This record gives sequence, C-alpha cells and structure tokens, in this order.
Amino acid sequence: MNEHFNDIFVTTSCPTQQQLLDYVQGKLSAEEQHEVEMHLSDCELCSDALEGLAAIKDKEKIPGWIIEMKWSLLKKLHKRYRTRRKSENYISLAVIILCILFLLLALFWAYHFSIRH
Ligand SMILES: [Zn+2]
Repeated sequence: MNEHFNDIFVTTSCPTQQQLLDYVQGKLSAEEQHEVEMHLSDCELCSDALEGLAAIKDKEKIPGWIIEMKWSLLKKLHKRYRTRRKSENYISLAVIILCILFLLLALFWAYHFSIRH
C-alpha cells in the first residue's frame, strides 16, 4: 500500500518498458494501471510506445529485442526531433548576432578612419 502511495508522486518519469508491456497485457494492479494511464495522457512518447505494443496481438511471442529496439528508436527520434528544432533556433540567432556584430564593426572602422583623415 505504501509503495503504491509513493509511486503516485513519481508519475512524471516514464514507466519502464516492462511496466508498459504489463499494462497492455493487463497484468498490473488497478492502482498501477491508473498510474500508467495518468502518465500516458501527459506523455506522447509513452502513448506512442503503447500503441506499438498494443498493436501486436500475440504479445507473449514478441521477442524482447524487438520491443527494446522500437522503444529505443522512439526515444531517439523523440530526442533528435527536439534537439534539431532547438539547434535551428540557435543557428538563426547566431546569424542575426553575427550580422549585427559585422555592422557594428563596419560602422566602427568607418568612424575610426573618418577621424584620422
Ligand atoms: Zn512517458
């Protein structure tokens, strides 16, 4: 009872692959099932993974490595998508900053030389 009580407050972290598989196969307790459902409504990654797991009818026959592969692939895609978007923002920001610096430098040199002559 205490264990489940504590688990409820850790819903932000993703359930393990085994937990998701147990969820699909209905092996979890009502409390654990509720916990996974709560997490799934927040986490796109896990609901995608669950969809994949649920799509396979003959669950007992799935070799572990296939699930493992799909799982890590999903995580990788998720990560790559996020970092790509972030780095694109950084690149456009860097270009803008470089343009401004170049302009300031040109203005500075123009000013500098006009005073000398
Ligand atoms: Zn998750």
